[in-house]
Amino acid sequence: MSDVRNVIIIGSGPAGYTAAVYAARAELRPLVFEGSITAGGALMNTTDVENFPGFPDGIMGPDLMDNLRKQAERFGAELVPEDVTDVDLTKPVKEVTVGGDTYFAHTVILATGSGYRELGVPGEKELSGRGTSWCATCDGFFFRDQDIAVAGGGDTAMEEALFLTRFAKSVTVIHRRDELRASRIMAERALANEKISFLWDTEVVEVVGEDRVSGLKLVNNKTNEASTLDVTGLFVAIGHDPRVELFQKQVELDEEGYVKVDAPSTRTNLEGVFAAGDVVDHQYRQAITAAGTGCSAALDAERFLAALG
Ligand code: FAD
Repeated sequence: MSDVRNVIIIGSGPAGYTAAVYAARAELRPLVFEGSITAGGALMNTTDVENFPGFPDGIMGPDLMDNLRKQAERFGAELVPEDVTDVDLTKPVKEVTVGGDTYFAHTVILATGSGYRELGVPGEKELSGRGTSWCATCDGFFFRDQDIAVAGGGDTAMEEALFLTRFAKSVTVIHRRDELRASRIMAERALANEKISFLWDTEVVEVVGEDRVSGLKLVNNKTNEASTLDVTGLFVAIGHDPRVELFQKQVELDEEGYVKVDAPSTRTNLEGVFAAGDVVDHQYRQAITAAGTGCSAALDAERFLAALG
């Protein structure tokens, strides 16, 4: 155990890189495992980000992440574009394994984010950021006076549909069952909204469009009848999965499977282990909130290390 690091950060989204900036500026020499193909996190898959403070003209998602990366590097964070494959977070000195190599640290910050569930149909991923979206708060503004659709039937789908009525001309909710899973109050609100209409027992089978979404191919799963819907946007609202596989047997999770922290701190149930960003948060899920808790995690780790002496 030659080199015990102060901080290892797992994840390179807004939470991980912000934690890295703060930890590096506190001279903690953080080691950041960025992930291999997913380095940079969720914003690498989008185009304009218009709601991250400090960019009055907006910024492209990958550019924002590149800036954050450079900022962390400038202060001495060591960035490694590899996936962590195993961890032991239960002992005072934590072990983080990447392939055949094991690294040691007094503190670990978990910032592995969460994945939006996908429909898994042709055109969905290809048109991501060009009409397909997973976040009404992020992208609703781009659909002013347009006809759009929301896929899903739970509370999130109703929340997204209601929010989108502020911008869109019409919102069609496409749900694969004949009744909503959403809570009664959310369902009633959505059903009563004049801009929202519902397609029941219906599934999206293809998102159609060249450069941008121009329509959807649908099928009724009871009658097998095929149809099309002319929309310029599709919001997929069928849930998210926090990325916790690596440490779920060690760190306490909440009832929805997200890492449980002693909020407003980022402390987990394990001493010296902190968590930030969308792996914790099923409420806000924004780049700025992830960055905010990334900052808190670095400060929490710094205080923990100071107390160790
Ligand atoms: P993520 O950004 O998901 O990053 C997680 C990181 O963990 C990744 O770098 C991944 O490589 C890494 N990782 C996971 N497992 C491992 C492992 N085993 N080893 C090493 N690394 C690992 N928010 C906004 O505020 N504005 C927007 O306009 C906006 N648009 C969006 C558009 C799209 C298409 C999507 C999907 C999301 C959008 N969001 C937007 C939401 C925002 O991207 C997230 O809230 C934010 O990225 C969460 O940050 P995070 O750091 O918690 O996680």
